[in-house]
Amino acid sequence: FLNAERIVKRFGEHRAIDDVSLAVGRGEVISVIGPSGAGKSTFLRCLNLLELPDSGALSIGDEEIEFAEGSAPARAQVARLRRQAGMVFQSFNLFPHLTAAQNIELAQKRVLGRSADEARERARSLLDRVGLAAKADAYPSQCSGGQQQRIAIARALAMDPELMLFDEPTSGLDPEVGAEILAVMRELADSGMTMLIATHEMEFARHVSNRVIVMVDGAIVEQGQPEQIMTEPKSPRVGRFLSAVL
Ligand code: ATP
Ligand code: MG
Repeated sequence: FLNAERIVKRFGEHRAIDDVSLAVGRGEVISVIGPSGAGKSTFLRCLNLLELPDSGALSIGDEEIEFAEGSAPARAQVARLRRQAGMVFQSFNLFPHLTAAQNIELAQKRVLGRSADEARERARSLLDRVGLAAKADAYPSQCSGGQQQRIAIARALAMDPELMLFDEPTSGLDPEVGAEILAVMRELADSGMTMLIATHEMEFARHVSNRVIVMVDGAIVEQGQPEQIMTEPKSPRVGRFLSAVL
């Protein structure tokens, strides 16, 4: 139910995303792997319209936008499409002056127009879901990196997104803490959430995703079932990348 067609994103003369098409079914969990600078983050940001593609088309659910050079899509349309996807970053991007609960309540009230009570109730239940009920009134600075990342996940989920995009959500965390985040993500995957995850965690990619996409130089060079990609990649470039990281 996500369909990206011939997406191109340029930075100056450099094509960071070079004619990428991808169809994602509801409930699919897709890992996006590939060397540094391949365009993984840029691609996820294009799917969430944090970067506007230069050309191509993107549809999520019933919302569809076509991109063309020199014509900006309508803001309302961008906002509607953006609301379909929740995004979690490597740097948690929480508001430092708001508590965990307030971080999760804010956009619910501002964007979805929920009442304070409703937003608070939802924040509590999501904090509980990520194992942080006790941290509702703590500020980000009073939380560990792993806890902050779980708050960021709860904040994204509070918007009831149709799909979740994760950009290296465990990089920069201790392996043990990273494992907690991966457990939350695995639970989310099991609950049927559609997910795209840019990751360097090959084990996670192998065991949690249904499909692995390998990006190199702004293009998808290979995709398939995790086992097949990890054990018998077709392209030599992918083979070299995997033997360096596995
Ligand atoms: P990593 O594994 O290091 O996170 P990545 O696969 O996520 O890498 P991107 O961050 O998407 O790679 O970058 C893809 C290319 O686009 C790189 O060549 C990068 O330098 C370039 N790029 C990304 N963002 C910008 C920007 N805002 N301005 C200019 N160039 C950019
Ligand atoms: Mg990146």
